[in-house]
Amino acid sequence: MKCIICGREAENKDYCLLHKKACENLKEKYEHWKKALGLSWRDYLIQVAENPFSGVKARQVAETILNEDK
Ligand SMILES: [Zn+2]
Repeated sequence: MKCIICGREAENKDYCLLHKKACENLKEKYEHWKKALGLSWRDYLIQVAENPFSGVKARQVAETILNEDK
């Protein structure tokens, strides 16, 4: 399996180590946002994807998940 974002060898399932980490970070931060603002997962991903201050990898993961959901 290859990472669906960067094509590197995937750790498990869809993501390489770097993008798996980015994905885990996203999920952790979402818990905080959900409590603070009541954002849905999808709204949160849109925020991350559109925010120029999000890390590059966080944005890549958010965009990838959003595209998969379509
Ligand atoms: Zn990757």
